[in-house]
Amino acid sequence: MNILVLNSGSSSIKYNLWEMTEKKLLCKGLIEKIGMDDSSMTFSANDEKKTIQKVIKNYNDGIQFILDTIISETGVLESIKNITDINAVGHRVVHGGEKITRSEIVTPEVKAIIEECISLAPLHNPHNLEGIKTIEKVLPGVPNVAVFDTAFHSTIPPKSYIYPLPYEFYEKYKIRRYGFHGTSHQYVSLKAAELLNIPYNQFNCITCHFGNGASIASIKRGASVDTTMGFTPLAGLPMGTRTGDIDPAIILYMIQQLGYTPEQVNDIINKKSGFLGISGISSDMREIREAVRKRDYRAKLTLKVFAHSAKRLIAAMTPELEGRLDALIFTGGIGENSGLTREIICKGLSIIGAYLDAEKNKLTKGEGIVSKDESPVKILVVPTNEELMIALETQRLVAK
Ligand code: ADP
Repeated sequence: MNILVLNSGSSSIKYNLWEMTEKKLLCKGLIEKIGMDDSSMTFSANDEKKTIQKVIKNYNDGIQFILDTIISETGVLESIKNITDINAVGHRVVHGGEKITRSEIVTPEVKAIIEECISLAPLHNPHNLEGIKTIEKVLPGVPNVAVFDTAFHSTIPPKSYIYPLPYEFYEKYKIRRYGFHGTSHQYVSLKAAELLNIPYNQFNCITCHFGNGASIASIKRGASVDTTMGFTPLAGLPMGTRTGDIDPAIILYMIQQLGYTPEQVNDIINKKSGFLGISGISSDMREIREAVRKRDYRAKLTLKVFAHSAKRLIAAMTPELEGRLDALIFTGGIGENSGLTREIICKGLSIIGAYLDAEKNKLTKGEGIVSKDESPVKILVVPTNEELMIALETQRLVAK
């Protein structure tokens, strides 16, 4: 079975084509700047990478271009000679609200829910939906599956998702904690359970997804019970450009006392804060790391603030795990690649039984266990693969 995985953003479409018998990635690519004069597609297949400049006016053009490219450029692939060789399409959808608790075959009802949830994810859901509608047009009859970032967290209990606001804000407006990066937390926790040879439905772990966005999840017996992300992906840890948790009164102070408009504050807390805000250098951890090497005070402070926040959130996640934490898992661009960040975060986590092995932590590239042999809590690095998880979910639902 060949599955196309699409991640449709505001001006970009990311795609992956998977052959599911071998779980082999056949080709992948990214269209950027849809609707602009300098739009382009970068793709790779057969170890070759190419960029094509082309005016891509809209989603329809973009998806058609992806399909044409898959056939013309990657037609050498054994299994894809014709567009009909694509058996199903899996779509990343950010928000499924309360009604969606798992991946779903796309039906008119599912599309209506994605539409309903636009108010909860205005920057993502409209484009995710447009991707689905476009595929329905250009690949009629091919099943579409929607895989939701929020779905994995649908198991978190009310004590974790209810905000201490007047209850009507939950009842009337559905203001509650939802959680994001679910596909990644699910993928790496499944993989870690497999590596440690623990049945997933008995596996207790804390997963740290640290990329440009960052979140921590607490997983009890294979189900998410808590997450640092909230009503929106702005909550929790400081991120590349997002604040993470701050005292909500700061927002009011900025507006009422400092005279910022809500739009300006929105821009500051989403795009100018986090690593970029503290360091004044960059939102990118590699550049922060470089500045730390040059002993830049604010770069060092950025790392310290991030690690402090991660530590206290990891520790706060443990009481719900009934006294047994099997593993602490790091993933995402930072979690997978920055040994220094893992080292600073794990300093002090022996209190929860997690002992990092400095040597293994330094040497591990890709997947591996980086805790001391005697550490009661295993510390793992597991590269995330949200696209493969979406392909697996698509295969599972289509096979039903
Ligand atoms: P996204 O959340 O957009 O998918 P990624 O998961 O790719 O992002 O993570 C991006 C982050 O990972 C950036 O802050 C980047 O600097 C960081 N990163 C990537 N490689 C390394 C590395 N070798 N060392 C430290 N940080 C890294």
